[in-house]
Amino acid sequence: MSRNRVEASATLREPAELVARGLAPERHRVELEKVAARYAVAVTEDIAALIDPEDPEDPIARQFIPSAEELVSEPGEHADPIGDHAHSPVAGIVHRYPDRVLFKLVHVCAVYCRFCFRREMVGPGKATALSPAAYRDGLDYIRAHSEVWEVILTGGDPLMLSPRRLAEVMADLAAIDHVKVIRLHTRVPVADPARVTDQMVAALKVEGAAIWVALHANHARELTGNARAACARLVDAGIPLVSQSVLLRGVNDDAATLEALMRAFVECRIKPYYLHHGDLAPGTSHLRTTLVQGQELMRVLRGRVSGLCQPDYVLDIPGGYGKVPVGPNYLSPSNSGSAANSFSTQGEPVPELRYRVVDYCGDVHIYPPRQ
Ligand SMILES: *Cc1c(COP(=O)(O)O)cnc(C)c1O
Ligand code: SF4
Repeated sequence: MSRNRVEASATLREPAELVARGLAPERHRVELEKVAARYAVAVTEDIAALIDPEDPEDPIARQFIPSAEELVSEPGEHADPIGDHAHSPVAGIVHRYPDRVLFKLVHVCAVYCRFCFRREMVGPGKATALSPAAYRDGLDYIRAHSEVWEVILTGGDPLMLSPRRLAEVMADLAAIDHVKVIRLHTRVPVADPARVTDQMVAALKVEGAAIWVALHANHARELTGNARAACARLVDAGIPLVSQSVLLRGVNDDAATLEALMRAFVECRIKPYYLHHGDLAPGTSHLRTTLVQGQELMRVLRGRVSGLCQPDYVLDIPGGYGKVPVGPNYLSPSNSGSAANSFSTQGEPVPELRYRVVDYCGDVHIYPPRQ
């Protein structure tokens, strides 16, 4: 691939480079080399500039600078944590839900996230992109499945393709009658905003399908002036943006940080879409929270920010069973209010169901209210 030629700025890939830049201490270098031998490392200039080397708990460093903790695998962790493999009919395609497929064109990213759920599939050493034959097979699969309404380009990061190649892909997909929506999942607007050129934006605009972009960011500090400008170029071109974040221990697992992130998205005209519970990817336990912590954070967020700022907190069920919202449950049956009866259409008396419903302050109400 021509990746290196189009890369806007130097990317740090070797632990020795991270040490030289002051982003990791020399005493960690040997261990980090072990991690780097197993999982891809890349820190773009834009991301490196965001890291405070004096802060051992820097939330940006925690996402991108490798750590020896990654060498520890916990029970339950799995190389294919969300079961993509079980639903892959041809290389590059994951068809789990009837109406949409993932189409994984490239296996490289601008940066490598330490918590990546596809960490065993992406990075140098793996094939960088689908072969031309595999690409044609993927297209044929989509063509042959008229129930596929939406194609989701993910990977890897589809914005690592050149604008010229991306324009071809978009045209190929939009030419399929039943494909009405093309969604691209990307971290490039924050990791390497200079890649989002006018040519890149033009490549995404295509006749015959609606284009959506899902931006992956986990901390408000990632939305720098340059990142915001890159997002604005997409939105101004008529491409709607949604967000995708991962709930990460020591990165964004407190209410103020999540609030700032969601507000930053909405200020950039990016609708918060998903807050993912951390997947059981190998060597990522130090970055996961518990589901109970996630639910509590979502409950607090509901009380702090506008409805526009609310993502869905989702769990991708291991084994390939898909995503489900696991946000706090506001509704539960109430067994205290069985007094009132109503009547079914057959005239049989049935006990009226009452619920306990929790408001955004945590106070409980009975619904429907008693007369
Ligand atoms: C996440 C995912 C999707 C997209 O799910 P949405 O809920 O539509 O965002 C589609 N296919 C697979 C296999 C996925 O993992
Ligand atoms: S950008 Fe996405 S695919 Fe790439 S390393 Fe990060 S989480 Fe994984």
